[in-house]
Amino acid sequence: MMEKSYLDKRQEDICYNLDVINEKIAEAAIKSGRAPENVRLMAVTKTVDPMFINMALGHGVTLIGENRVQELLRKKDELHLDGVEKHLIGHLQTNKAGQIVGVADMIQSVDSVKIAKEIAKQSIKRGVSTDVLLEINIGGEESKTGFDKSEFLESVYQISEIEGINVKGIMSVPPICENNTILCKFFENIYNIYVDIKGKKIDNINMQILSMGMSGDYEQAILCGSTLVRIGSAIFGPRIY
Ligand SMILES: *Cc1c(COP(=O)(O)O)cnc(C)c1O
Repeated sequence: MMEKSYLDKRQEDICYNLDVINEKIAEAAIKSGRAPENVRLMAVTKTVDPMFINMALGHGVTLIGENRVQELLRKKDELHLDGVEKHLIGHLQTNKAGQIVGVADMIQSVDSVKIAKEIAKQSIKRGVSTDVLLEINIGGEESKTGFDKSEFLESVYQISEIEGINVKGIMSVPPICENNTILCKFFENIYNIYVDIKGKKIDNINMQILSMGMSGDYEQAILCGSTLVRIGSAIFGPRIY
């Protein structure tokens, strides 16, 4: 018998990984008292070759996330993006906003009032309105971007006044934790902020998406209320930089 080619093997792995992940997402959603459709899977495609991304797109993935503007722009024409949403999930520099507005379906990584204003300005210039999530640095880590917990509510009020963007929810990456108990405290913390702001019914702030959970912790994140999990290595294997 002929040996399986490398590409066949990769395709098999990616499809198998997606099946397992989708099943686990559904289980965790049900465990958290929600319908599986309530939790959306994003395939995080940073560093992944378009050929492998297309394998995932051919196996039911409808949402991809990239960290860098340049990488998204470089890869997008090689991708089978019919009916697929693409989100930016990495820090956005002010001078790159003009390149991503109108290209990304959502910018999940709005981490300052300043970048919110720039995205809005670029959106108005192009006659569009851009969907965004606000990123919280829940662990207050120096190494991470995102709003500080303490300044968050004030910033939300400021952002609610800006025309040209639609705030759809919150994104967060908690610190690496020793155990699940500590990790869940962070997830619960983020969820509470999300629910709290939702309850305030602020104009132009629609809390519909809670983006938290990655390859190593998405089940816990769903149990704590996540509605969108961002998964890279568990689908495509370890990243090679
Ligand atoms: C890379 C990345 C992910 C995916 O990480 P994995 O551990 O590979 O699933 C999710 N969210 C953000 C913001 C990322 O940068």
